[in-house]
Amino acid sequence: MIIEHVEAIPLDMALSEVFKGGTYQVASRPTIVTRVHLANGMVGETYGGDEFHTQKEIVEVVRQHLAPLLIGQDVRDFQRLWERMFHVDLDLGNRGLHQLDMHPRGILMQAISCLDNAMWDARGKLYQTPVYKLLGGVRERVPVISIGGYYPKDGKDPLEAIAEEVDMVRAAGCMGIKMKVGRASLDEDLARVRAARKAGGEDFVVTVDANQGWDPLDAVKFCVAMEKVDLGVRWMEEPVKWYDQTDGLRLLASKTSIPINVGQGEISGRACRDLIDKGAVNILNVDCTLCGGVTEWQRIADMARFMNVEMAHHEEPQVAVHLIAANPHALFVEIFANRVRDPLLWELPDGFPEIRNGYMTVPQEPGLGVRLRQEVIDRYRCD
Ligand SMILES: [Mg+2]
Repeated sequence: MIIEHVEAIPLDMALSEVFKGGTYQVASRPTIVTRVHLANGMVGETYGGDEFHTQKEIVEVVRQHLAPLLIGQDVRDFQRLWERMFHVDLDLGNRGLHQLDMHPRGILMQAISCLDNAMWDARGKLYQTPVYKLLGGVRERVPVISIGGYYPKDGKDPLEAIAEEVDMVRAAGCMGIKMKVGRASLDEDLARVRAARKAGGEDFVVTVDANQGWDPLDAVKFCVAMEKVDLGVRWMEEPVKWYDQTDGLRLLASKTSIPINVGQGEISGRACRDLIDKGAVNILNVDCTLCGGVTEWQRIADMARFMNVEMAHHEEPQVAVHLIAANPHALFVEIFANRVRDPLLWELPDGFPEIRNGYMTVPQEPGLGVRLRQEVIDRYRCD
């Protein structure tokens, strides 16, 4: 159970299509593969992160600054090792300005996440137990929705595109869709969400994600309009622009009964605490590849339960499936049913868990239960 060495391997895969959300576009699928080798020959491994801006820096922090803290240590001591990494002596600059300081801290927290998640795989293999059972084991299959509703390329009718996409999402076995909004006018976006509801029918799960595209008053207008026509959306995700997260969300919550889902970019449990405390949040979709790994995600989930906040998870189904399966107040695993948007999910794991009738089967092999294909790692490695 002693850690001998660790590896961090950056991958990048160019996408054959560019995908446009509310405030951004995506042209490639990067990730980082992390492996923790134990003295007994066992290897904990996983991949995570969809981050190209700082990928090189994250890999450097893993290799240069965190790996030396773990080598020679007992992988079972997850609380101790997490604190060791969190309090690493690493000069990231200090401008004493809370928000400006967050960017370099994000690099550190993603590096910690890489290692923490790989170590959970190693622990599962040591104990011969799937990770979701180490965390509590609530269910053997979890509901799945697909991220989608991207804005179509020019020329295609946006409402027809949505009806086609809903059919594709259903055919992929998902029970719902997350619709991108926030780029078009409020009226156009409302028509797009209505089209998803119409195509999916009453029981289809529809969630809406503005990717921080609106000021609070526009967010209020949109949510009130959705309620007026009774669209039955499960949540409104990241409705408000980055600079008005707490007061803006609280204003929105006072005007709508649609649950507000935020947190995918938060890099610490304390930040999640502050969002709940000050911002009126109903669902946290904090991402264990950003927030400090499975260890910190589970702490956040425990806190959220006492605050009557539900849990979701931003992307990364290969790890999220265990977290959603281990928590009674957790909602859906998210995938990209459109394989062109996330080809890694279908190429990198050696046999991804089955998705059928709206549910994903939780892997029953020890650890995270997702073996990675070495030839795919070799093909897309970018260092
Ligand atoms: Mg989102």
